Amino acid sequence: MERLTVELGERSYPIYIGDGVLTQVEQFKSAITTNKVVVISNDTVAPLYLQRVQALLHDYEFDSIILSDGEQFKTLDTLNEIFTALLRENCGRDTTLIALGGGVIGDMVGFAAACYQRGIPFIQIPTTVLSQVDSSVGGKTAVNHPLGKNMIGAFYQPNAVFIDTDCLATLPRRELAAGMAEVIKYGIIYDADFFTWLEDNMTALMTLDTAALEYAIYRCCEIKAEIVAIDEKEQGLRALLNLGHTYGHAIEAEMGYGVWLHGEAVAAGMIMAAQTSAAMGLLTAAQVARIARLITAAELPLLAPAEMDFDAFMQHMKRDKKVLNGQLRFILPTSIGSAEVLSTVTENTLRDVVNFHNQ
Ligand code: NAD
Ligand code: MG
Repeated sequence: MERLTVELGERSYPIYIGDGVLTQVEQFKSAITTNKVVVISNDTVAPLYLQRVQALLHDYEFDSIILSDGEQFKTLDTLNEIFTALLRENCGRDTTLIALGGGVIGDMVGFAAACYQRGIPFIQIPTTVLSQVDSSVGGKTAVNHPLGKNMIGAFYQPNAVFIDTDCLATLPRRELAAGMAEVIKYGIIYDADFFTWLEDNMTALMTLDTAALEYAIYRCCEIKAEIVAIDEKEQGLRALLNLGHTYGHAIEAEMGYGVWLHGEAVAAGMIMAAQTSAAMGLLTAAQVARIARLITAAELPLLAPAEMDFDAFMQHMKRDKKVLNGQLRFILPTSIGSAEVLSTVTENTLRDVVNFHNQ
């Protein structure tokens, strides 16, 4: 088992990573400062892992709330369901919420913890690749609004994150692959050696090799923790984590959320970002090809949907959170292992990149 710390002064917290983390009673005890715990999960994950978690927590007054599974339930209504359940059970501020599930559960439980009685402690037990390498670390919490994804939320850090790689055995293969898009992203934006390691180990990751998973998840969390420690509220560096997401969000929104998984859209988006860089002379064709090969090895798409033309992309990208003073801003790789935020992409370049896919 590995341990690392997200350094945020008095809000610093540990992340435990490894096979069998969900048997580490002592680590759980050190993270829980209250008498009562409430595990919040969904009707897919709870049948698989709730008992295992409950067994760890026999020293505490224990309750659980099981929500419906799905991004469509990441709403203020579900949040209110959580509050109602907590109030009915007379949960006071001496309660720790435990998020057991993927990013949907983690984001929603984190936000519930931020709001309930003005803030109570919470713990993340992420069970998807995406949530283990990305959403459970860094303190962004939110629910969706009918007018926009993740529009209602808060920055709120957990007491600890427990990542058991063993949970990935039950994850659908498409979700496994989708999470790998974010893993690859860290290599491209931040760490050339990690990218090379991924080239050598993607097969091991996709066959759930325990040691490979533990190392990859550790390195991703370490990079994210480093970035968040420098730029918690996304004033600069943290924006690099959005590589591939400007194009990717356009794909997700245009195709209808859930039709393309987030990671699938980000994979195609990262290729489009790499092609944009190449067109601007920032990246070589050989580097674009390396990125494409790794994305293919992770069983992810290289091409955006053929039916999406330039106008379809622009209509969504104009609404991107990164638009500043009307200027579109893109995260663009400048080599394998580094990236920059640039607002100098011309319309012609964008057209060329989109047209490559739109045929
Ligand atoms: P998800 O939570 O919907 O999980 C995907 C599916 O896998 C669900 O059906 C889930 O029930 C199921 N599942 C989870 N763990 C499983 C397991 N071990 N075995 C079998 N099935 C399992 O999706 P996700 O990709 O984990 O997270 C996506 C969410 O994360 C989005 O809402 C996104 O906005 C959010 N997100 C947040 C941040 C952040 O910084 N807070 C970052 C990235 C993404
Ligand atoms: Mg993402």
